[in-house]
Amino acid sequence: MAFTISEECTACGECAGNCPAGAIAGDKKGYAIDAEKCTECGACAEICPISAAKKC
Ligand code: SF4
Ligand code: SF4
Repeated sequence: MAFTISEECTACGECAGNCPAGAIAGDKKGYAIDAEKCTECGACAEICPISAAKKC
């Protein structure tokens, strides 16, 4: 299992600032999760307002 960010992402940046592992990075075009840094804590999935960050 892993966490990913889907194409629905609006690049609001909320998840990146709340990832305890610093695994999320991005810019105005979109955000992505570094699978090697992600500890699969689930915080991004909880905080994303449109559920674009989720377990896949
Ligand atoms: S699951 Fe946790 S560690 Fe992984 S990207 Fe989301 S907030 Fe970061
Ligand atoms: S919180 Fe959701 S919409 Fe915002 S940057 Fe993260 S994945 Fe994209």
